[in-house]
Amino acid sequence: MRIGILGGGQLGRMLALAGYPLGLRFRGLDPAADAPLGQVAELVVAPYDDRAALERFAEGLDLVTYEFENVPSATAEFLAACLPVWPPPEALARSQDRLFEKELFVSCGIPVPPYAPVSGRDDFAVALEQVSLPALLKTRRLGYDGRGQVRIQHADELPAAWEQLGGVPCILERLVPFDYEVSLLAARSPSGRLAFYPLVENRHTAGILAVSRAPAPRATAELQERAEQYVRTLLERLSYVGILAVEFFVVGDQLLANEMAPRVHNSGHWTIEGAETSQFEQHLRAVLDWPLGSTHPRGHAAMINLLGTIPPISELLAIPNAHVHLYGKLPRPRRKLGHVTVRADTPDQRDELVRRVLRIVSLPEPVLL
Ligand code: AMP
Repeated sequence: MRIGILGGGQLGRMLALAGYPLGLRFRGLDPAADAPLGQVAELVVAPYDDRAALERFAEGLDLVTYEFENVPSATAEFLAACLPVWPPPEALARSQDRLFEKELFVSCGIPVPPYAPVSGRDDFAVALEQVSLPALLKTRRLGYDGRGQVRIQHADELPAAWEQLGGVPCILERLVPFDYEVSLLAARSPSGRLAFYPLVENRHTAGILAVSRAPAPRATAELQERAEQYVRTLLERLSYVGILAVEFFVVGDQLLANEMAPRVHNSGHWTIEGAETSQFEQHLRAVLDWPLGSTHPRGHAAMINLLGTIPPISELLAIPNAHVHLYGKLPRPRRKLGHVTVRADTPDQRDELVRRVLRIVSLPEPVLL
């Protein structure tokens, strides 16, 4: 079987690395010649909307998936005319627009923070009425890792914030005083089989994921069950196939959905060593309609991102049960260059290992457990 991956980043590279033991082969498509997937698989280097390149990419493939959610949905639809494309292009289109994504959550009965669309100046007054301050003004498209959003403390800051974001369509969203943030990773196969990983607790630094701990230390069985119920509704509504990640804010005993990613996700990297089946293998099993694997955690795991710089590898490897993954990317401030996973028998031992890793890595802002 030969699988095409739209996007050639580290997620594509880890998908390929998980697929080789299963006898799979891979071809990526990415506009950047030095995309990390190209170090381990065939790579077509071309823009996503280059029809001739898409035809070269598609030749001899059995199916197509993606690892980057800003692939134009027209590209996914073009390929879907001749090949299975999973997850379904509708999930991709929904996740690319914060307004359509929120509307999907609401239609599935999933609570979200209060929000209102801001398409132009005429919408300011109504939006401020619907969403009390403080709030975040977020661009509807192309926002990630905290980019494309501005905090609004007072109503008179809204016009300048909108200008600062380029005057593009936005949403205004209430700033939620959350207790902590979690994500749920789930898989669905074409025949409707489902699998859910334990909730993951995520800590951010300057808007970027820094540390994920799993199973989430504070999540109760009820919270897990509620998150699964919400995500099951989404998976079924979208006739979804593959891994879906949904991020939530935890406020008291409430879960508010923030966003979803129709792909393998940074907060699931711990599953490579920390779960019976990694999210990457699970995604491949799902898109191939193979039996899904166990999502059972192997003890208590944590993943720490290496952002902007890579510390001396021998210092990381000196930590017991530390597993280092480097993506083969050139250093740039805030860039995800790799990650470290630690595993232990108890949450306390795991957190002690996380602190040891955090003393070695440098992050844009400190993260305390
Ligand atoms: P996003 O790009 O929407 O995932 O936002 C990145 C991070 O900003 C989130 O993981 C949160 O830490 C924070 N954030 C986003 N939206 C909100 C909100 N409505 N209230 C509080 N924090 C938020």
